[in-house]
Amino acid sequence: MSGNAHGGEGVTGRDEFRRAVDAAMLSGGTAPLGDLVLCDFCDEDLTRDPRTGGFMFGSKAVGPCCSAGSLARIKGYGEEWNIRGRCPDGVSFADWVRGMRGPGAAVKVTRISFRPGGAS
Ligand SMILES: [Zn+2]
Repeated sequence: MSGNAHGGEGVTGRDEFRRAVDAAMLSGGTAPLGDLVLCDFCDEDLTRDPRTGGFMFGSKAVGPCCSAGSLARIKGYGEEWNIRGRCPDGVSFADWVRGMRGPGAAVKVTRISFRPGGAS
C-alpha cells in the first residue's frame, strides 16, 4: 500500500489536510495548506508530482491530470476567458501553484450548519 518507505515524514498530504479542514469546520477557521497542492477538479494530490502542465480556471487549480480533458470542455463551453494562467513549461504544476499563492496559504472553511430536516 505505502510502497517504498522513503523515510520522509509525510505531514503534508491529502489526509492530513482533510483533518485540518475537519478541525477548521468545527471552529469556523482556516486550514493551513503548507506545501499541499491538489487538483481542484479531481482532487489528486500533486504535491510531489513533477509533471508540468495545468492551469488556473477561475479560482480552481486544474492539474496536468485533468488539463487536457477539461480544456476541451472549457473550449466547448466558450469559457476560455476564465483561464487566468497556465503553468509554464519546465515548471512543475505544484511549484507553480505554490509560487502563485505564496507562503502561509490557507483555506478558509465556511462553517457548516447542521440543519435537521436536510434539503433547503
Ligand atoms: Zn485532476
